[in-house]
Amino acid sequence: MTAKVIDGKAFAAEVRAKVAAHVTRLKEENGITPGLAVVLVGEDPASQVYVRSKGKQTVEVGMNSYEHKLDADTSEADLLALIDRLNKDATVHGILVQLPLPKHLDSDLVINAIDPAKDVDGFHISNVGLLGTGQKSMVPCTPLGCLMMLRDHHGSLAGMDAVVLGRSNIVGKPMAQLLLGDSCTVTIAHSRTKDLADVCRRADIVVAAVGRPEMVPGDWIKPGATVIDVGINRIERDGKTVLVGDVDYASAAAVAGAITPVPGGVGPMTIACLLANTLTACCRANGLAEPEGLTA
Ligand code: NDP
Repeated sequence: MTAKVIDGKAFAAEVRAKVAAHVTRLKEENGITPGLAVVLVGEDPASQVYVRSKGKQTVEVGMNSYEHKLDADTSEADLLALIDRLNKDATVHGILVQLPLPKHLDSDLVINAIDPAKDVDGFHISNVGLLGTGQKSMVPCTPLGCLMMLRDHHGSLAGMDAVVLGRSNIVGKPMAQLLLGDSCTVTIAHSRTKDLADVCRRADIVVAAVGRPEMVPGDWIKPGATVIDVGINRIERDGKTVLVGDVDYASAAAVAGAITPVPGGVGPMTIACLLANTLTACCRANGLAEPEGLTA
């Protein structure tokens, strides 16, 4: 079997187009423009690239983008004061603090200072709790993007066996909650899991989020299964730096029914879902109907 390639780049473009159309309606019918504030502390080069990209795409879908760049030695008190101002600012519907923060800042404290209704990353402890109890919440962007692709490919996920490789708070755990919410039978695997290969081979859906280049070979995949590769790993190959996922793409694609490539799979969906979450937050804040198909 040769797997169908799930084109995350094209799907992300569709999500952005839906968001843009909804934003246009919000402006015309309600006089509201959704706004996303992104806070970057310090000069981490990768974070700077992400923040630029987020700002650009925010403006492209018609939303307001507010970038707050703070010095690396910004005090916790100053950062919390900024978050407080953004929480109170009615033109800001989404707040994202780019992680990782410099070491002297307590990330949990900072994230939990964001108004949960504006927490478009879905990392606030209230949103974690709401998701865990199956209530309406802001859902972390990367797992939300994975869920959208799975629903688009399969329709209903009910009754499917899903394995999530990785138990991080930003990917693995919320991914497992979302799959459970869609009535999958979910196994969460991690570095202490016994016989990972066997666990994977039972799965109709494998979501790999381990951060280990090409760790999952094709012979761990059940024929016809759907493979979602969250991993983004930079490796040297043939004298060049290349991006690879956590799945060995060539061997897995020969067995799977569908697979996301790296790059061009989960990655582009993450920012698209950030925009979708900002729109959702704006609609909720104004008591308006939420966009269809853009939330969990
Ligand atoms: P973390 O490092 O926080 O978590 C990795 C998880 O993988 C841990 O639970 C760890 O287990 C598990 N793990 C590590 N090694 C193994 C192993 N050999 N066997 C089984 N499990 C293992 O990573 P993240 O969740 O933050 O990210 C995972 C990957 O996804 C990374 O490549 C990251 O770059 C990528 N990513 C991509 C995004 C995107 O937009 N596409 C967004 C976010 C992340 P244990 O808990 O036991 O240590």
